[in-house]
Amino acid sequence: MSLAVGLDEGLVAELSAIVGPDRVRTDAGARLARTRVPAPFPVHRWREHLPQVVVLPHTTEEVSAILALANERRVPVVARAGGTGLTDGAVPEHGGILLDMKGFGQIYEIDPLRRTATVGVGVNMLKLNEALAPFGLFYPDDPASYPTSLVGGRIGTSGWSLIGARFGHTRDLVLSFLCVLADGRVVRIGDGGGPKISKSSTGLSLKQLFMGHQGTLGIATEVTLKLYPKPEAELSLFWGFARYEDAHQCVDALAGAGVATFAGAVLFDEAKVAYLRRDDEAYIPQPASVRSVVCTALYGWEDEVRAGGRRLWRIAADLGGRYLGDEISQGDWASRHDRYATPLHGRRLDGTVVPMGWHCEDAALNHPEIVSVTRQWHAIVEELRRRYDAFDDWGTFAYTSADTGVDYLVEIDVGIWEQVLDDGMWDAWVEAKRAIARVAVGAGGSISACHGACRAGDVDVVPEELEGSLAIMDAIEEALDPHGILNPGKYHFRKGNVFQGGQL
Ligand SMILES: Cc1cc2nc3c(=O)[nH]c(=O)nc-3n(C[C@H](O)[C@H](O)[C@H](O)COP(=O)(O)OP(=O)(O)OC[C@H]3O[C@@H](n4cnc5c(N)ncnc54)[C@H](O)[C@@H]3O)c2cc1C
Repeated sequence: MSLAVGLDEGLVAELSAIVGPDRVRTDAGARLARTRVPAPFPVHRWREHLPQVVVLPHTTEEVSAILALANERRVPVVARAGGTGLTDGAVPEHGGILLDMKGFGQIYEIDPLRRTATVGVGVNMLKLNEALAPFGLFYPDDPASYPTSLVGGRIGTSGWSLIGARFGHTRDLVLSFLCVLADGRVVRIGDGGGPKISKSSTGLSLKQLFMGHQGTLGIATEVTLKLYPKPEAELSLFWGFARYEDAHQCVDALAGAGVATFAGAVLFDEAKVAYLRRDDEAYIPQPASVRSVVCTALYGWEDEVRAGGRRLWRIAADLGGRYLGDEISQGDWASRHDRYATPLHGRRLDGTVVPMGWHCEDAALNHPEIVSVTRQWHAIVEELRRRYDAFDDWGTFAYTSADTGVDYLVEIDVGIWEQVLDDGMWDAWVEAKRAIARVAVGAGGSISACHGACRAGDVDVVPEELEGSLAIMDAIEEALDPHGILNPGKYHFRKGNVFQGGQL
């Protein structure tokens, strides 16, 4: 197998000298396996995104030496953590070196007194919580990808947690981290200098700047995280509604009730319920009158959770909610980390089942805008579906983002029959994504609440959303990475500045 365009044997030898030959891979299998992410992908264009070489570092010193070398040679470097990102953040736009960060899988320290854990970026939340359980502590970053996404990727995307209304999101839970800059310098990024401090007023808050940078500003290696006492009880309650508008009002009332143990509320629209009833065994027995669903989850001591739950129950019942029973309420909430693995099929217009991948377009919206935006999104997907029988509408979700309940992560799930995609369909899909993003921004929202917006379609609307502040971001990126080697092409940074490559 020939080596990739732009990378000579000399560079591979130098990389091997840093990490050892076993952790430098140039074979097609290793590179192909790390090219794509789970979201539907233009399979016919897969080769355009191949890294030339995969490197598996295990220490900060190794990452520092790799970046210094890449900077000197002007070779792109893309960090990949769990590879579960849904906006192509870890996909090498311009080839180069792919840094697979899974080798940073160590838990370095659990500090019960300061309630922190210091871990390698290759650790994930499930493994960390297993280690924390004996201390009566837990790390409450709880995405649906909880068992598979890694701490480094959570920083790269500024992830969103299903229980964030009670405990905050990744950006609140990461206290500080070691970060290797493009030239190989190692710095600590936090809120001021103290590695375990959550609020400082010394200087600028660099931590927020680095949350969600998609590997464009530096590579994180070692992270210090904030811990909480492990809650004694979890209570999840699901209610069915005949009308989406009533369910929409209900989530607002639940989130605004001021219940301290409230960890989040979720709203499923009619299209989501129809999809679940059609293709998800758990929902099939629901009576036809259930057309929209509201769920809430509470965490805390058993007595306070019961009291909070009673109050929320009264609110939902007064607004016409019908309790869906313990089986759905507890079962669906318990399966929140694995049910996304199931929608690997969808339906064509005639109802035929075909293999489909899951695309999730997420936006940040205020509560009053949710119904109108989701209806406009469905119209966009419907039009796409009418033109090409390779797309399926899997409905929308809205999740409270903060305890105020006034802003939400709202997503539309679209099934895509990837195998039949050609350039025409792919372009139509990218145009639809652009339209979906424009609807969110036009409603005063943001393109993304957790995944970032660096994928074809969404990224085109970023200048419209950020207006003048994009120039500030650009200047910061240029100051930290003057040769544009870190994940070039993402967020418009240095589009095409470095070499094009990626052939097998
Ligand atoms: C089934 C499923 C459910 C999901 N549910 C949620 C959810 O509920 N909430 C949510 O927020 N997301 C969710 N996601 C999206 C995804 O899991 C998150 O975006 C996650 O944060 C990505 O983590 P990762 O480890 O897979 O990162 P990757 O996809 O590998 O990388 C993500 C970005 O971070 C960069 N990066 C990776 N490591 C580093 C590092 N060490 N330093 C600097 N940059 C780095 C990469 O270059 C890339 O740009 C879901 C995805 C799936 C497949």
